[in-house]
Amino acid sequence: MNPNRRIPLVDLVAQHQELEGELVSVFKTALQTAGFIGGPMVEEFERDFAQFSETSHCVGVGSGTDALRFALQATGVAPGEMVVTVSNTFIATAEAISQVGAHPDFVDVDPLSCNMDPGGLEKYLQNQCIPERASGKLIHRRTGRRVTAVVPVHLYGQPAEMDPILELADQYNLVVVEDACQAHGAGYFSGSESRWRKVGSLGRAAAFSFYPGKNLGACGEAGAVTTNDADVAQRVRILRDHGQTRKYHHKTEGYNGRLDAIQAGILRIKLKRLPAWNAQRREVARRYQELLAPLLPSIGLPSEPEWAHGVYHLYVIRVQNRDALQAHLAEAGIGAGIHYPVPLHLQEAYRHLGFQKGDFPAAERSADEVLSLPTYPELDIEQQRLILRRIRDFLCRREFAEEMTG
Ligand SMILES: *Cc1c(COP(=O)(O)O)cnc(C)c1O
Repeated sequence: MNPNRRIPLVDLVAQHQELEGELVSVFKTALQTAGFIGGPMVEEFERDFAQFSETSHCVGVGSGTDALRFALQATGVAPGEMVVTVSNTFIATAEAISQVGAHPDFVDVDPLSCNMDPGGLEKYLQNQCIPERASGKLIHRRTGRRVTAVVPVHLYGQPAEMDPILELADQYNLVVVEDACQAHGAGYFSGSESRWRKVGSLGRAAAFSFYPGKNLGACGEAGAVTTNDADVAQRVRILRDHGQTRKYHHKTEGYNGRLDAIQAGILRIKLKRLPAWNAQRREVARRYQELLAPLLPSIGLPSEPEWAHGVYHLYVIRVQNRDALQAHLAEAGIGAGIHYPVPLHLQEAYRHLGFQKGDFPAAERSADEVLSLPTYPELDIEQQRLILRRIRDFLCRREFAEEMTG
C-alpha cells in the first residue's frame, strides 16, 4: 500500500467496484420493468433478510428511523407514554420515540460496553416508577406517564445484554424494540435458551438501517423492521404505505415509508456478501486488539463478553485528550470519528426534557473519550500498522509533555 494514501473512516468504494456489474443489472431490471416501488425485488429481499436475522418477518421501509418509528407504533406505543432508552446513541433513536407522540427517557450505560446497563434499568423501574393500582400498568412517578417500552441499542455492532433486559421487560410488562441499526448479523448467547440468537430476533420487534455506511448499506436510504409477531409485521406494512390495506382504502393514517425496489435489489446482492464482510470486520478488530494491546492502559480497547458476537460496525477505543488524537490522526490523512460527541440528554434539541450534566455519568464520559478508528472489511494490516504508529507517536509525545510540565 502507498503510505501516503489516506485512510478514511469508512470506504464504500472498494465493495462497489467489486459488485459493479451485479448492482448495475439491478438498475437495468428496474428500468425495464418500471417497478420502482414494491414488487418482487422488495419481497425477495424481505424474505432473505428475515432468514438472515432468524425472524419470521421482515418489512422493508424507507430508513432506520422509519423502522424505529413504525416498530414502536406497531407494538402499541401510544402518545403520552414514556419509552426508555440510552443517551449515547444517534438522535434517531429518540426522534422515533417523540415522533410517535411518546416521551424519551434515559438510563445510563455500562461504562465498558457503552450499551444499556441492565442494573440501571432495574433501578429506574424500581425507584422512578410505580405500578398503577387499577391497571397494574407502570407509571413514572415524577410525570405520571405510563412507561410502556424499552429500546436497547446494539451500539457499534455489539449486542446489548439482552437476557436481564428481557426479564425486566417481562416483569414490568414492557415492550422491547431493539435498535439494531448498527448490528446486522450480531449474535447474542441467550442464557435462558442456551443458544446463540441473532440481534433483531430478541425483542418484540427490531429496527435496522441500511444507510450506506452501515454494515449492510443501500445506495441511498433504506431500513427494515424484523419481528416474529405476524400482527406487528402486518401493522408495519400498513403504516409504511399510508395506512392502506388495499389501494385507496385507508385503515389508518400512515406514512410514505416504503423501501424502493432498486434499493431492495441492491441490498439483496450485498446481503449475500454480508457474512463474509462481517467476518472480515471481526478480523480487522482482532488485529487492532493485537496491535494496540501494548498501548494499554493509556488507551482503552473494546472487549467482547463471551455471550457476544459483535460485528464491529465501529471499532471504538477510549482515550484522554481524544480531540487532540483525532486531530493528530487527521493530519496523517487518517479518518477517525466520534460516536457520539454529545449525549442526547445534553443536546439542545432535548433541553426541554430538563436533564443536566451529571445525570448519566457513563454516557457523558464515553462522549468525552470515544474515538472510532477506520473500520471496513477491506482495511488491511499495513493500514492498521500505520494507524498504530500514529497513535503511539501521539501517546509518547503526550507523556513527554507531561514529564516536562509535571
Ligand atoms: C443509523 C442509525 C439510525 C437511523 O438510521 P437511518 O437509516 O439513518 O434513519 C438509528 N439508530 C442508530 C443507532 C443508528 O446508528
